[in-house]
Amino acid sequence: MADLFNVYPLYDIEPVRASGSYLWDANGTRYLDLYGGHAVISVGHTHPHYVNALTEQLHKISFYSNSVKIPLQQELAEKLGNLSGHPDYHLFLCNSGAEANENALKLASFHTGRTQVVAFTKSFHGRTAGAVAATDNPAIIAPINYNQHVTFLPFNDIDAAIAGITEETCAVIIEGIQGVGGIHVATDDFWQALRQRCNETGAILIADAVQCGYGRSGKFFSHQFSGIEADIISMAKGMGNGFPIGGILISPKFHATYGLLGTTFGGNHLACTAAIAVLDIMRNEGLIENAVRMGDYLMDGIRQIGGYKDLRGRGLMIGIEYDFPVDALRKSLLFEHKQFTGVAGKNTIRLLPSLAIGVAECDMFLKALSLNKNNA
Ligand code: PLP
Repeated sequence: MADLFNVYPLYDIEPVRASGSYLWDANGTRYLDLYGGHAVISVGHTHPHYVNALTEQLHKISFYSNSVKIPLQQELAEKLGNLSGHPDYHLFLCNSGAEANENALKLASFHTGRTQVVAFTKSFHGRTAGAVAATDNPAIIAPINYNQHVTFLPFNDIDAAIAGITEETCAVIIEGIQGVGGIHVATDDFWQALRQRCNETGAILIADAVQCGYGRSGKFFSHQFSGIEADIISMAKGMGNGFPIGGILISPKFHATYGLLGTTFGGNHLACTAAIAVLDIMRNEGLIENAVRMGDYLMDGIRQIGGYKDLRGRGLMIGIEYDFPVDALRKSLLFEHKQFTGVAGKNTIRLLPSLAIGVAECDMFLKALSLNKNNA
C-alpha cells in the first residue's frame, strides 16, 4: 500500500471542521486556533462570505489557463492595490510563498542584469532553489550548492548592510518580521538604511511579506511602519485563507514583457475568488484595526503574566521567548487547554491567530498561559 512520505511530525489530532478561531476534532473536542496553520487563516475558518463566494464560483468556472481573460485577476489587483496602499503597483499571481520569492528574485535579476543576492541571517524564504539560497538554516539546505550567489548579513545591522550591499547586488530580500527565525522585527532605521543603500547601488529591495504581511502586523505590510516602499513585495499564506495562492506586488518601475514570468495555476478563478473574499472581509470587518487592538491586548496580558525572557512582535505576530525549550508548554496548551500554538526555534512560542480573533479567545490563551508559565 502506498503511504505518505513521512516528513512531518504530526500531533495525533484530526480536525474535521472549523469556524472562526476554533477547530473541532472527530470526537467533537473543540480547540482554540492561535496559529492558523502558519499564519494562513487570516479572516477566520469557514467565514460565511468566503464559503459562499467559493461555492458560487465553483458552479461557474474553476480554472482556465493564463491564455484567456480572467477579470477576477483585475478585480483582485485593484482591491489589493487599494487596501494595501499600493494602487500603482502591478500584481503577478502564483501559488505559494516560495514561488512568489522565486519570481521576485528572477524579476530583480532580469531588471538589473545582476546575480548577487543579499539576505539576512535566520531568514526563511521557502524551499525552492532561489528561496533556499536566501536562507542560512542548515536544516533545509541540501548538499547541492544553491548558495553561491547569496551573501548573508546580520539582521538589523545597518553598518553591515551598507558595506555588504554594492553595485554588484541584484536584490536584497528581507522579512519585515522574521517568522520561522523567531519573530525578530526589522527596525524602522534598518528599513530606511536598506532603502537608501538600494537606491545608491541600484539593488532591488524585496520585502518578503509571506508571513508578516496581509494585515497581520497592524499595517497591510510591516515595512509600512517605516515609511519606505519596497520594489517588490511577496505574499502568500493569509492571502487565500487556506486556498493556495501567492503573488508579488511590483513597483511601476518594472517593465512587463510577454513570457518574462509565468505559471499554469497562478491566478485561477477559484484562487482569485478566495483572495477577493479575504480582502472584502478584511475591509468590511476592519480586521487590520482588530489586529492592532488584539495584538496590544495579548502583549499587555503576556507582560502581566511574565516569566519569559523576551517578548517580540507586532500586531498578531507575537513571539514569547523563554529560557527553556517550550515543547512541554506547547503540549500542555494543546492537550490540557486545547489550544494550538506555534514555535520558532526551541524556546519561542509563536502566535499567529486569525486577524478576527476576539477578546474572549485572547483571554482563554492568557488564562492557560498564566497556569503554565513555569512549564519548563
Ligand atoms: N517566506 C516566508 C517568510 C515564510 O514564512 C514562508 C513559509 O513559511 C515562505 C516564504 C514559503 O512559503 P510557502 O510555504 O507557501 O512556499
